[in-house]
Formats: sequence, structure tokens, C-alpha cells
Amino acid sequence: MQISDLADRIAAGDRRALARGITLVESNRADHRKAALDLTERLRTTGREALRIGLSGTPGVGKSTFIESFGLMLAETGLRIAVLAVDPSSARTGGSILGDKTRMERLSRHPSAYIRPSPSQSHLGGIARRTREAVALCEAAGFDIVLIETVGVGQSETVVAEMCDLFVLLLAPAGGDELQGVKRGIMEMADLILVNKADGDLKPVATRTCADYAGALRLLRRRPQDPDGFPKAMTVSAVEAAGLDTAWAEMRALIGWRRETDHWTARRAAQSRHWFEEEVRRGLLAALTEDPAIRAAMADAARRVAEGLDGPDAAAAAMLQDLRHRPAPG
Ligand code: GDP
Repeated sequence: MQISDLADRIAAGDRRALARGITLVESNRADHRKAALDLTERLRTTGREALRIGLSGTPGVGKSTFIESFGLMLAETGLRIAVLAVDPSSARTGGSILGDKTRMERLSRHPSAYIRPSPSQSHLGGIARRTREAVALCEAAGFDIVLIETVGVGQSETVVAEMCDLFVLLLAPAGGDELQGVKRGIMEMADLILVNKADGDLKPVATRTCADYAGALRLLRRRPQDPDGFPKAMTVSAVEAAGLDTAWAEMRALIGWRRETDHWTARRAAQSRHWFEEEVRRGLLAALTEDPAIRAAMADAARRVAEGLDGPDAAAAAMLQDLRHRPAPG
């Protein structure tokens, strides 16, 4: 199929075309890469914009249960929701945890929902680009909400937060020790902390945990992109679908405020700039390790430095000078 046809079909909301497009952006093959760029560039002009929500939490906290309940609630109001996953651990375990077919079964059958399993990639940088492109395709396909799920491992939260309009952290009810365990950096990225499993015997613990997090959030530096009262901590029960409507109302309030105050546009602009710079940096680093000619030149220069023929700094300067005059890496 021609890329222009694929683009038209994605823009018309054809799911099979969307799946095919995402497979294309996930591919590492050089000819696929070229086609993927052609596709994303064509679709950029649709001007469609979804609300991008990032959701992070450790395994077992209830992410899939939450996405199923929350997604169904949104889908029932007529919103179209796409779910993507960033799961850098899947490459290590051999199988994609987030790609498990049994997850979110009801939501995956809903006509307004689209769930895409995590690509099996080991490199977070590669996953980041593929996920961003997949998000762009979902937006072009007319989804109202794109939810990007990630397990709280390594740097994946940071990567997801950098491609979202809203970042939600899902936490488990627990004692004070747990509060210490949540890295400050993640707390600082969160717009909304949801303490899940606030039901049955766990309800009092969840309420207490939520109050602890609310206290911790108040101690953080006020961010310019937040109205009064944000970031916020709340309790929810994904199993009982309790508190989800309130959580959604809070998300809408926050996003509404950011839109009115231009923080939405500024954040998207800053993210675009960030990803542009990141991709250039990544491409240069990739060239260092992948381009045979550059690798050979590096090895040769390194050998001369090791043998004391050249000084490390002068050799590095000469190498950088040389790299500047090479054609751009493919
Ligand atoms: P994930 O690994 O973060 O995707 O977590 P899952 O959604 O698979 O949930 C892990 C476990 O927690 C499962 O046994 C769920 O049934 C349970 N769970 C999820 N949400 C809730 C909740 O709101 N209340 C209770 N009591 N259990 C929950």
C-alpha cells in the first residue's frame, strides 16, 4: 500500500490501517524508517489533538484494572480512547508484560477503544521515539484520549512524562515506609497521585496513605503550570470503579486551566523541542557505535591515544572536527 493511502485510511479512523502504521513506526528497518517518517509527516497536518495522559505505577498496583475501568467510563461518555504502553522491562523478561492479551479484556472489545501492546524493544531511546510516533498516529486517527502506560522502572516515567499533557501516578495503599520509597523525582512529575485499592479492608490504609502523599506534595516547590491545589492526591478503587469520575473531573479542571493560561501550548512546544534535540543527540551517538567508518576511525584514534602517540584531548578535538565534516548519519 502507498504511504499516502495508509495516511488517508488512518485519518479516516481505520483501525487496521492504524495498527499497520504503528507496526511501521516500530520497525528498525531503514526502508521502514523512511516510510514511517513520510507517514508521520503526512499525518501531522490533520491538526488533530488528543489529550495525552501518562500513567505510571509499579507492577501489581492496579494499572490494567484502572485503565479498564477508567477507559470504559470514558468510552461510555462517547470519548474515543487509545492505550499504548512503554515497557522497557519486557525486553529483559522476554515477553511483554503490558502486552498480555488477557489484560483489559472488556475495554479492548469496546468499539471506542484501541489497545496496543508494548513493542518489544530493549532501548528506551528507541521506545520513546516509537511511542511518540504511535501517539501521533492515534491523534491523527481521531482519538480523544491517548493513555500511555508505563511500569515504574528506570527512566521510563521521565520519558512518558515528556510526551504527555498530564501525568498520573498510581500508588498502592501502604504504611509510612512506602512513602519514603517513592522517588522525589517521580512525585515532582505527577499532576495527580491516585492511591488505588481504596476498598474493603484496605480503605482506611488507602485514606491514610493518600493524606501522607497530599502532605508530601504540599512540600514540593510550586510549579508555574499548576493552578491552586495541584498536584493533588486522591483515593480510587479501580475494582469498584469508585472515585474515577472525580479523578476525571480533576484532570479536566487541570487541563482546562492549562489551556486557558497557555501552559498547554507552551508544554507541547517545549516537548517538541526536547524530542528534536534528543533525536539529534541519539542519532549522533548511534552513528558513533553503528557507522563502520566512524567506528574504525574511533578505534584507530583510541589506539593512538593508548599508545601515547596522541594526547586524549587533542585526539578528541580532531575526531569531533572530522565528524562535523562527514555526511549526516542515515
Ligand atoms: P498492574 O500490574 O499495575 O497492571 O496491576 P493489575 O491491574 O494487574 O492488578 C494487580 C492486582 O491488584 C490484581 O489482583 C487486581 O485484581 C488487584 N487490584 C487492582 N485494582 C484494585 C482495586 O481497586 N482494589 C483491590 N482491592 N484490588 C485491586
